[in-house]
Amino acid sequence: MFNLSLNSENAMQELEAVQRFFDHYKDISCDEVPFSPMVRKMCEANRCGSVGKSWTCPPAIAPVEELQAGLEKYERFLIVDKVYELESSYDWKGMMAGAKDFQDRIQNLRKAIKESLAPEDFVVLGVGACQVCETCSYVDGEPCRFPEKALYSVEAYGIDAMKMMKDAGLKYYNGPNTVTYIGGVFFQSQS
Ligand code: SF4
Repeated sequence: MFNLSLNSENAMQELEAVQRFFDHYKDISCDEVPFSPMVRKMCEANRCGSVGKSWTCPPAIAPVEELQAGLEKYERFLIVDKVYELESSYDWKGMMAGAKDFQDRIQNLRKAIKESLAPEDFVVLGVGACQVCETCSYVDGEPCRFPEKALYSVEAYGIDAMKMMKDAGLKYYNGPNTVTYIGGVFFQSQS
């Protein structure tokens, strides 16, 4: 077990798991996280095809106001990203493989943080619909099989990832034939 001591603004981004699993990271104040109602609207447009197929996507997911109200106790947000190479800008298979890999990395980060923090002391966010199960139980009208593992996306929470990255001095676009996936961790600073 490692000892996570959140006694400085940069403590979370100094975690070994953060540095090992991701390409870039930055710890910002929750006040700097840009929420926008338009982001959920873009989710509802179903460009990724996950609407109606997951507990973590519309229409099953709670309204953004409800999700955001659950974040009020947190003070900091650690942004993490990873850049994936694609064969072309139409490489859907490569994008999906990257999204799955990114979710696995976020789940590993969650496991690492759980060694030191209680589940209610942080919230991790990833990319796309939750991929813990091959087929989400939502399609069968059954409850989520693993609520403690279910992974919500930055966009599902209504976060404008492009603006957040720009404001934080990080790149949202990392060149032709790449896709950059963005996630993060809400947590309380103990400083
Ligand atoms: S854990 Fe399984 S059932 Fe729950 S949201 Fe994720 S994929 Fe769906």
